[in-house]
Amino acid sequence: MTTSVSDDPSGILLTEQRDSALQTLCRLARTHFQVASVAIAVQDQDRHGETCLVFDGAPVFQLPDASTDNAPTCIVASCDLTDASGRAVGMLALIDPAPRTFDTTHTTFLRDLAKLAEHAIATAEQGERLHRRIGRMKEDGELTSLALSGSGTGVWDRNVMTGEIHYSPDWHALIGYEPHELSNRIEDAVERLHADDRDYVKAAMQAHFDGNTPSYAVEHRIRCKDGSYKWICSRGKVVSRDGSGRALRMVGTTTDITALRELAQRLQHSIDLVTNLTHQVPGLVFQMHQSPDGQCRFSYASDGIREIYELAPEDLQRDAHAIDALIDPRDLAAYRASQRASAASLTPWRLEYRVNLPRQGLRWREGEARPQRGADGSTVWHGFITDATERKRIEAELQSLATTDHLTQLSNRREFVSQSQAVLDAFRQRVLSCASTLLLDLDHFKVLNDRWGHSLGDRALAHFAALLRAAVEQGAIVARIGGEEFAVLLPGADIESARALAGRLQARLHATPLLHGDERIAMTVSIGIDSMLITDIEAAQTLSRADIALYGAKKRGRNRIEVYRNAARPDIDVIAGVS
Ligand code: GH3
Ligand code: MG
Ligand code: MG
Repeated sequence: MTTSVSDDPSGILLTEQRDSALQTLCRLARTHFQVASVAIAVQDQDRHGETCLVFDGAPVFQLPDASTDNAPTCIVASCDLTDASGRAVGMLALIDPAPRTFDTTHTTFLRDLAKLAEHAIATAEQGERLHRRIGRMKEDGELTSLALSGSGTGVWDRNVMTGEIHYSPDWHALIGYEPHELSNRIEDAVERLHADDRDYVKAAMQAHFDGNTPSYAVEHRIRCKDGSYKWICSRGKVVSRDGSGRALRMVGTTTDITALRELAQRLQHSIDLVTNLTHQVPGLVFQMHQSPDGQCRFSYASDGIREIYELAPEDLQRDAHAIDALIDPRDLAAYRASQRASAASLTPWRLEYRVNLPRQGLRWREGEARPQRGADGSTVWHGFITDATERKRIEAELQSLATTDHLTQLSNRREFVSQSQAVLDAFRQRVLSCASTLLLDLDHFKVLNDRWGHSLGDRALAHFAALLRAAVEQGAIVARIGGEEFAVLLPGADIESARALAGRLQARLHATPLLHGDERIAMTVSIGIDSMLITDIEAAQTLSRADIALYGAKKRGRNRIEVYRNAARPDIDVIAGVS
């Protein structure tokens, strides 16, 4: 009779066999020792130490416990059961109400029975372990074939010596055949390879046969039943070799990768298109990434970077700040601030800035990019940077043409008025304490033209302009505002300083006549002076007051300096010119 607390179905058969053997031993022992009952308690290690009790004879109410010395009084003899390593696995006990004495023969017999019990227990344990392992292997195998059949993968098994190949049903289906339609010969398999792929497939196989590669893996085309070709990935391994290393058997898998190849091809086309486009576009096309901690790197830079920054694309992949060293110090602060502002407000970045490059020297760059915010708080810009040097040069040229008098290279009237307005604004904001205007008109220039010709007249104008430029200090604005009419604006100068300059000018013009061959062509100039008033709104006001003063100088005989006096300054200051 047995009582088992185990209910693991996988081991029930083995446990039953073990318990039947143990019960036979109990019966033998009871017959031999003539006791009321014999019990064997087994601690089942593989079942979390549960105890199983096998007995023969009267029911045992007090279970013997192998783990304590506290045996019940009815046990008349017992023997511990251990496994091969000495670990306690149970107990064999003789149970009888009356105390008994045993001689050596009895004891030896009891030990022999115990050995048989230990053997039965160990055999059952080993069997059960084996049983579980087989179960696991079966499960793995089922999972593998399930995974393979779901992934469009077929399995093959090749006898290298005979040239025979066995294919799984999935393998046949892969290329459109029923299992019975396909030969199992290697020659036919080779014949199904695409002609262009045959050589490298064979070479890969041979390399593995020769032991040069740990496994065989190759992508190639294979002909289907309908004549079309599929791209497959074939992987395999030699699983047995003879004594001299020759391959005997090889197993492997074949996976349909046609869709994957097409996808990869489309992806490659897209990449090629983007790369070609960005590389052909003049300038640098980029993607810049700024992490939340402010670290910048170019995640993409087109080939144009070699021209724009004289750097290689990989130079900036780790740290975009390598560019900072190339940016002209005059524009570096603006460059950084513009990027910060764009990142903070997610507004497009646009900037014109100068760079100093080892080969090209000082150049203008124009950058434009749009920012996007990532989920992690990072910012990514997509944009481009172009060479703006030529445009900036043309702009500067146009600006100069629009603001400069061609004959004298002085500012023209428009520029003079615009700069005077800026000075007036500064004066009205008390940035400047005063500012004075001089209006200068060459005397009897018509006569000079008439006598010496127009081209000498031009030379005379350029001559006077040069004297004018040389006479003023830095910061003065000098212009030719009409035919033979010039103007000077002196920011920060009062009437006295202006008058002093006018005096110096007349003296210099007197001392430096225009030379024409042996001729010394004397010129004189009349000068009207005015100083800006805080009540002035437009720069033209000071110019027209200086004009009134100039008119006075002409009226009073020319070659004179006169200062405008308004109602508050009624007297027109008159200074006689140099003659
Ligand atoms: P005033 O002393 O009253 O100023 O007499 P003026 O002859 O200097 O003045 P007027 O206004 O009568 O004549 C100015 C002359 O300047 C007339 C014009 O031919 C000449 N002129 C104007 N622009 C140019 C120029 O670009 N080149 C040359 N050579 N002469 C010019
Ligand atoms: Mg004149
Ligand atoms: Mg004039």
